[in-house]
Amino acid sequence: MKPHNCYICKKANYNPYVTIKDSLNISSFTIAECECGFYFVNPKPSEKELNKYYSTDDYLPHSKGKGILFLLYRTVQKISFYNKFLLLRNLIKGNITHLDYGGGDGRFSSYVNSKKKATSSFYDPYYKKSSNSDFKKNKYNIITLWHVLEHAYDLDILFENIEKSLEERGKLVVAVPNFDSLERNIYKENWAAYDLPRHLYHFNNISLDKLLRSKGYKIIYKKRMLFDTFYISILSSMKISNISVIKSLFVALFISIKVIIKGPEFSSSLLYVCEKEK
Ligand SMILES: [Zn+2]
Repeated sequence: MKPHNCYICKKANYNPYVTIKDSLNISSFTIAECECGFYFVNPKPSEKELNKYYSTDDYLPHSKGKGILFLLYRTVQKISFYNKFLLLRNLIKGNITHLDYGGGDGRFSSYVNSKKKATSSFYDPYYKKSSNSDFKKNKYNIITLWHVLEHAYDLDILFENIEKSLEERGKLVVAVPNFDSLERNIYKENWAAYDLPRHLYHFNNISLDKLLRSKGYKIIYKKRMLFDTFYISILSSMKISNISVIKSLFVALFISIKVIIKGPEFSSSLLYVCEKEK
C-alpha cells in the first residue's frame, strides 16, 4: 500500500477522514480528505491486492440468484436500462454508436443493441470475460461511464482511452456515487457505496466538476438518478440486521423526495452529460 498525492490538486494536503471495513470483511481502508475537497482511498492498495476484491461474484451484486431481492433488482435494472437508453436517444440525433466503458458483463450494451438505429460495444478491464480491447479500433458518438470512475486504478489511462474513442462533438455520460448523498448520513459505515477498496475515489458535486474540467470536458447538464437511491438503500440495509427491506424502501422514498426538493447535488449518484471543450 502506497500513500499518494491527491489526484485532483496533485498536492499532499490531506488528512485521514474515515476508516471503514472492506467489502470482504478482512481488512480496513482509510479515506483521506484533501483540502481541495476530494476524498480518496489512501494509502492506495496495489493492483494485485485490489484484484482480490474483483474475483468474487460480488463484483456484479445480485446479478444471479432468486428470491424477492433478486426480482426487485431485475425490475429496477429494467427500468434503469430504459431510462438510460432514453437519455442516449435524447442526446444523439440519428444513429447511436455507443461504448459502455466499464460495462461489466455487457448487459446494458446488449439492451442498446436490441434497439433500432443503435449499436453498442462494451469494455471492462475488471470483468475478465468482457476484456475486449477491440473497442479502441472504433470511434463512438456516445460513451457512458456508469459507476466506473470510482473504480479506475489509473484515471489518466481511462481518460486517454476515452479521448481516443470519442468522436469530435461526441457525448460523455458520467455517473458516480455521490459522497454528499443524504443516505450516507443515514447508513453511516453501512453505506453501500463506500464499497472499499473497490471505490478508490469518492466524488461530490465539486470534485467531479473539477476533475472533468481538468480533463477538458464541459458539462452540458446534470441529472438526478432517483432509482439509484432505492438500489443503494436496499444494499445498505442488507448490511444491517435490524432493518428490513420495507423500511429501507421508505428511507429511499423519503430521500428521493428530499432530493427532488434540494437538487441533484444531494442525490445518491451524480450524473453528468459532457462534451469535449473545443
Ligand atoms: Zn486535492
